[in-house]
Amino acid sequence: MANHNSHHSMRSLLQTNAFVDGHWIPLEQRFQVLNPATGEVLADVADGDATLTERAIDAAHKALPSWRAKTPKQRAELLLRWYQAMLDNKQALAELMSAEQGKPIAEAAGEIEYGASFVAWFAGEAERSYGDVLPTQNSGQRAWIIKQGVGVCAAITPWNFPNAMITRKVAPALAAGCTMVVKPPQLTPLSALALAQLASEVGIPDGVLNIVPSSQAKEVGQVLTSHPLVRKLSFTGSTNVGKLLMQQAAESVKKVSLELGGNAPFIVFDDADLDLAVTQLLACKFRNAGQTCISANRVLVQDAVLPKFTEKLQQAVSQLKVGPGDQADIDYGPLINQAAIDKVQKLLNDATAAGAKLLTGGKVLDNLGPLFFAPTVLSGVTSMMAISQEEIFGPVIAIQSFTDENEGIRLANDTPFGLAGYFCASDYARIIRVSEQLECGMLGVNAGAISHAYNAFGGIKESGIGREGSRYGLAEYQETKTITLGGIK
Ligand code: NAP
Repeated sequence: MANHNSHHSMRSLLQTNAFVDGHWIPLEQRFQVLNPATGEVLADVADGDATLTERAIDAAHKALPSWRAKTPKQRAELLLRWYQAMLDNKQALAELMSAEQGKPIAEAAGEIEYGASFVAWFAGEAERSYGDVLPTQNSGQRAWIIKQGVGVCAAITPWNFPNAMITRKVAPALAAGCTMVVKPPQLTPLSALALAQLASEVGIPDGVLNIVPSSQAKEVGQVLTSHPLVRKLSFTGSTNVGKLLMQQAAESVKKVSLELGGNAPFIVFDDADLDLAVTQLLACKFRNAGQTCISANRVLVQDAVLPKFTEKLQQAVSQLKVGPGDQADIDYGPLINQAAIDKVQKLLNDATAAGAKLLTGGKVLDNLGPLFFAPTVLSGVTSMMAISQEEIFGPVIAIQSFTDENEGIRLANDTPFGLAGYFCASDYARIIRVSEQLECGMLGVNAGAISHAYNAFGGIKESGIGREGSRYGLAEYQETKTITLGGIK
């Protein structure tokens, strides 16, 4: 019997080989994983290719009949053991994540809890997946609908949430009776491999969860989107890659769920509680150094409160502490790599050249290292600037002003993206009006932290298709089958 109560250290959770059919597969070709705070090499990881991906799909297919044949309760029990193992090893998982991703250990521990919460949530959902009985129009027939797991699923995930972006897909898939192949991000595969180790230790059967770490995303993605045994692709990442994968998956009409990029507005209306607006904006903006898909990208502030809000904001931003993830009491750590720093710097240069004003920050904190960027506030931003149109993915607050409610709403919706949105106001009629008019999948009203397993996470417009978490998340991994029974006398 698997030992499901083991407490690990970060070292004993550090796996560097691929995980296929319950086995750790060493490959000759390897790629390096770096610590973004120090630049040190953390691990040399097996570099999965197209052949290994096919092997993983075969393993997932072989494991499917017996996993599917388990009762929902049996699957739920295994998921709950996995959930418990994550919580038992929260500190070690958090240290590992912080080392490969850069976020503060306390924040990483929060992600472990958040990631684990999807496993508990979908263990519950597994037991409450109902069908329908239909009112037939033929007295000799009865008809009903059942829900069945789609089969072998594939997941491709990003580096900004190395744990939760995986559990949010694997948990509903396994709950629904599907098996899975995951291609984790090249930059942060270690958290994914640690999750697989714990899954194996708690007794999740071989082949049900397979992890193919790789530096060859294109090749692996090609196999995952074209292989006839894969019935569903769930992707979280950039909109461009999502579009490409959707096209590839169209060839064999696979189900797709896409959690893509955002361009969240954060609107501060003239009736807002400005202190609350500042704390919520900071919580939203500086989580993971601004590297989140639901981060406030455009801060729209009504003219009447602009000076007061800006003053309070600058005061709060000046208190932020930046440092390596393993240092206590820091608010955020390094950005993920040099390309991320270059992008933030380019967006800032472009904005200031076009007339925006740098109020604070705007530079690399060289004393800490090349990937640490200062908390930055920029005012006088306009919709035409690239910083308003692209994801900043860094610790930059870009303030744009507006005059009245209609203009605020118009500016907020003036984007092809529609993932998260936020606004601060106190007038209840305004709260209703604006909530109904903003084009986004998730809205925080006087709230900057909106991610929970019970919420339906996902976007509209070019931000994606489908929802993760909530009572809608399981359906993404299920087919709906109608059964008609005739010959009833
Ligand atoms: P990305 O470049 O799109 O990468 C995401 C994943 O796709 C990685 O595993 C990557 O592999 C893989 N990939 C890249 N090119 C591929 C290809 N041609 N075929 C198959 N797979 C491919 O995005 P990212 O920079 O990692 O993540 C940041 C983006 O994710 C942002 O746009 C952010 O908004 C979005 N995001 C969205 C959500 C959401 O829930 N909506 C959540 C988090 C992040 P490699 O690692 O090897 O490149």
